[in-house]
Amino acid sequence: MAQPTKYIFVTGGVVSSLGKGLAAASLGTLLEHRGLSVILQKFDPYLNVDPGTMSPYQHGEVYVLDDGAETDLDLGHYERFTNCTLSKFNNLTSGQVFENVIRKERKGDYLGKTVQFIPHCTDEIKARINDVALRSDADIIITEIGGTVGDIEGHLFLEALRQFSLDVGRENVCFIHVTLLPLIKAAGEIKTKPTQQSVAKLREIGIQPDIIICRTEHDLDEDNRRKIAMFCNVEHKNVVAFRDVDHTIYECPVDLRRDKLDRLVTDRLGIKSTTPDLSNWQDFVDHIINPTHEVKIAVVGKYIELQDAYKSIYESLTHAGAANDTRVTVERIDAEMIERDGAEVHLSGMNGILIPGGFGDRGTEGKILTAKYAREQKIPYFGICLGMQIATIEFARNACDLTEANSTEFNKESPHPVISLQEEQQGVEDMGATMRLGASDSKILPNTVAHQLYGKDIISERHRHRYEFNPAYRQQIEAAGLKISAVSEPEGLVEIVEISDHPFFIGAQFHPEFQSRPNHPHPIFSGFIAAALQHRS
Ligand code: GLN
Repeated sequence: MAQPTKYIFVTGGVVSSLGKGLAAASLGTLLEHRGLSVILQKFDPYLNVDPGTMSPYQHGEVYVLDDGAETDLDLGHYERFTNCTLSKFNNLTSGQVFENVIRKERKGDYLGKTVQFIPHCTDEIKARINDVALRSDADIIITEIGGTVGDIEGHLFLEALRQFSLDVGRENVCFIHVTLLPLIKAAGEIKTKPTQQSVAKLREIGIQPDIIICRTEHDLDEDNRRKIAMFCNVEHKNVVAFRDVDHTIYECPVDLRRDKLDRLVTDRLGIKSTTPDLSNWQDFVDHIINPTHEVKIAVVGKYIELQDAYKSIYESLTHAGAANDTRVTVERIDAEMIERDGAEVHLSGMNGILIPGGFGDRGTEGKILTAKYAREQKIPYFGICLGMQIATIEFARNACDLTEANSTEFNKESPHPVISLQEEQQGVEDMGATMRLGASDSKILPNTVAHQLYGKDIISERHRHRYEFNPAYRQQIEAAGLKISAVSEPEGLVEIVEISDHPFFIGAQFHPEFQSRPNHPHPIFSGFIAAALQHRS
């Protein structure tokens, strides 16, 4: 008889930014290495329907899926740490729950009833878990619940999980609670009280965690393990340490394996599986930690002080570095500093320059100076989305004599709008989910650097933009030497630009960073790091 689907719910306590998403993703890695199929999803209790309209200051990066869903950056971890390809069904927010319930109420689906948080909203949440289970056919569904236990807005989700565990049978559900063990330096002691109180809050709602993952700077000693086990009512072996890793987040699965998290979960859920062989993963980690070479890459953006704003780009650089046996040291440079000081001061000595995606005109002139510097000084350049548009504007201004060239995003009156609003974007008023989003095919032209890198004619890449290379300027710009090396199928939108007479100069209208994986670096990132290495030598 086929095994019933098993469910793991990962909640967080004490503080946010605990690495709950990484813990969930790492558990996914370990379970896949045990030969099990997993799918991950995230529940976000905020009221936005999706994070697409939030500033990186609020939310960090918006991660885009194949189907065009704009999602939480934890979905990036899930796709990078496992073999999952996720869809819009894998990120549920309170905004979506309420939107669905209210739409149904207006339609008359609840005719005669008072519509309430319980059962109507909780049913909506439970339906989503079942839906993901049906669509994926995975052995195990791992669901991470955003926020911290005790938040008002998370309550509905936790109540839904409590009910769900009764619906499918408690034996098919494993609750994991991730908490923080702070170290009080003056006393030299690790404190377990916040964990006890956070678990008490969960139990108040009716959820008894099966496993507690303790984030800790150091190790977790026996005394503290026992204390947590006793006060939190879990088995002693089910208190797991999640230590700060030294070098890279890809060490997390290896760390969690030390306390055999995967085994505890499969035992709890009654699943038979094999001991994981992590040697490939460990090889990848070793390549990150102990490479032969090193390059310095400048990332010139607007949100450089935020760790999470360009997360997938930083990860992709790490993947490409490991594949090239190279440590990639990223220098994050604020584009406005380049406006103030000029490019040379900040960019000399760099082996590669990357301009990531972005919106709005703050810092754009600094980015244009950056692209000019990279082009003229023959430093490897990689522009992503806005970074491609910037390279085009710079080239038009300085190599085609269109001195006032611009994007209509930054200057609606520009006499030379070399980047302009896509036709289908004209008249769009709603801001949510209305960009050109998600994966679509492009054709790469032969005898181009892009073709050399990909080694194929048709590629599929994920998008998130409203503006495009204005086809009216195509001929003039190409004639001056900025080659268009890929166009979308069938619309013919410009997807990649490159300069042949340069060690490496590529702009991509899409977001390659969403498809790079630890042992499968993205070909453009790989080529960029290889070129940076060449530049250094
Ligand atoms: N702001 C630009 C556009 O909408 C670039 C978007 C991006 O970099 N993701 O086209």
